[in-house]
Amino acid sequence: MSTRISRRHLLQAGAGALAMQRAATATPPAGKLIVDVHAHLKHGDAEKTEYSAKDIVGVMDAVGIDRSIVFAMSTTTQRSITFAEKAVAEYPKRLIPFLYALPNYERPVLADIDDALTNRGFRGIKIHAGECRLTPYVIDPVLELAGRRDVPCLIDATGSPSVARRLAESFPHTTILFAHMGAYMSRDSGMIDAFIQVAADYDNAYLDLSAVALVFKMEEAVQKVGADKLIWGTDGPHKNPNLNTYAQFEMEKVQRLTIPQADKDKILGGNIVKMLGLT
Ligand SMILES: [Zn+2]
Repeated sequence: MSTRISRRHLLQAGAGALAMQRAATATPPAGKLIVDVHAHLKHGDAEKTEYSAKDIVGVMDAVGIDRSIVFAMSTTTQRSITFAEKAVAEYPKRLIPFLYALPNYERPVLADIDDALTNRGFRGIKIHAGECRLTPYVIDPVLELAGRRDVPCLIDATGSPSVARRLAESFPHTTILFAHMGAYMSRDSGMIDAFIQVAADYDNAYLDLSAVALVFKMEEAVQKVGADKLIWGTDGPHKNPNLNTYAQFEMEKVQRLTIPQADKDKILGGNIVKMLGLT
């Protein structure tokens, strides 16, 4: 048996034991909830990695995640709303809906976004620079609306700290979570440092710790901006090496940091519980 396989088995056993342990105890108080702020819902595109609500909750149960923020992407805003609504109707106590903001050639989407936030229980907005430019004439109306409705935007700025800085500076009343500390699985420490600096400079800028390759940067970020500005997510589900182990690895990145347990609790759930007023 290779080291890799035995480690995977160990992790699976660990995840099972953790789930059993949590199942045996009552629901933790809100301050101790473990919340994944970054989970992708399937929308039917086989090339993407998104999964069904059932898959997501299956991983949550196995790994010990109490709540997950879910959203679809690579689809229209309207479809993202429909997908997330359906998912949350299936698991109302576990899943929290974000919608996906994407310009549309057929019609403006701002009214759909506002309706979802105002009337349909949506708690935030996902934005991805991989699918639309974050230039002022494209994205600023969404950031402005988010500020007015007091909901956070989870933004993948795909490694552009100057874009992140412009958004944080231009919309001081909009809470922004920058995904992956800057860019998905990036090893560009200079770029990550620039994102940490944005979080340091602006009260409304936070860093999502999902799919971070340079884990030591998480610890540096705690030192520089404090645990209050860091929010954990998985960017899952992912098949590599399997759904549960992927999420477990993402959680262990935070659990293994050399920081106080109270900081880990904030990062793994406390901060987002406070931000969204979860109970
Ligand atoms: Zn993602």
